[in-house]
Amino acid sequence: MSIWKYSDQLPSPPPEKYRLSLGEGETPLIASRSIGPSLGLKHLYFKLETVNPSGSFKDRFAAAALSHLLASESKSPLCLGTSSGNTGAALAAYSAAAGIPCILAIVDTAPQAKLSQMLAYGAKLIRIRSFGTDPKCTSEIVEKLQSLSTELGTLCQVSAFQFAPLAMAGVQTIAHELAVQLPNGINHVFAPAGGGGLVLAVARGFDSIGHPAAIHCVQPEGNDTIASALRNGDLQASDCECTTQVSGLQVASVIDGHESLTACRASGGTGHTVTDDTIFAFQRHLAEEEGIFAEPAAAVALAGAAQASASGQLDPDSHIVCLVTGSGFKDTSSVERMTKNQDAPLVDSFAEFESLVRNEI
Ligand SMILES: *Cc1c(COP(=O)(O)O)cnc(C)c1O
Repeated sequence: MSIWKYSDQLPSPPPEKYRLSLGEGETPLIASRSIGPSLGLKHLYFKLETVNPSGSFKDRFAAAALSHLLASESKSPLCLGTSSGNTGAALAAYSAAAGIPCILAIVDTAPQAKLSQMLAYGAKLIRIRSFGTDPKCTSEIVEKLQSLSTELGTLCQVSAFQFAPLAMAGVQTIAHELAVQLPNGINHVFAPAGGGGLVLAVARGFDSIGHPAAIHCVQPEGNDTIASALRNGDLQASDCECTTQVSGLQVASVIDGHESLTACRASGGTGHTVTDDTIFAFQRHLAEEEGIFAEPAAAVALAGAAQASASGQLDPDSHIVCLVTGSGFKDTSSVERMTKNQDAPLVDSFAEFESLVRNEI
């Protein structure tokens, strides 16, 4: 079970002996039990990227990234990358598996759970102020990291086609799996976008297998680099001042924006923007109504699909997939916000416990 199942369909896969896996990919596709019916959508599905080894789809990227790094046969290999948290956790995990040191430049707003996870795998982390939220600082850091990587004789691990196209090919396997999981066709795929690499990978994946599906790009209003431009017919994405609180989608500079805008449009998809409050509400709906524990970024695709459905943009009979990109364990403060009005009383006896149970039912 790994992304290498589709290696013969990926551009330039690493030689077999270097292929690293922790069991990423082959993630479940679950039919919605409650939210789809309540939106009037008959065929709404969730692709659970939450079950990947480090808890997000970025494991597909990191498996490919570290395999290519091993294949480069460097004498003193080093994994040098940037992250808002999930790419870093994935790179740190696969670096640990490969026995390669990992040093990461981290956005300053990364949630504690993501920082702890990266540290647990033994990565060295350096947080940089304004990285992620300020567009100038963000593009400057990724560009300078690319030069530093070249100087140090290693690859620059930024989860975007602009910086690491071979590793991003690993993410295209989402499309290959979906084509197998829904062989009768998929009309719409909704994906969240930060830098836009994920939507671009999914669009390229579907394109490469000649499987038509409209790829929709959903962004928080507070990081609208691609979505509105795509919807309004603009030819280019644009930088923004990032104000969203949604970790993973705080990417103020364009990165893969132009290419992802073009690819979504060519697929027949469009752009959707949603507020942070709507995203947090759908994070709760996923947990309470579907049993799916997602971080806020992973509820964004569903928030976009719900909005598109409410405004009559989706045929109730169409087959719709929402990518649930990362686990709720990734951002425990978002879970605390979600549950702040619920408590867990401490009692002293079974009798007290029993009376509370009887009150509940
Ligand atoms: C990285 C990430 C995204 C966005 O991916 P981009 O390639 O930056 O657009 C979405 N959701 C989660 C959970 C992520 O970690």
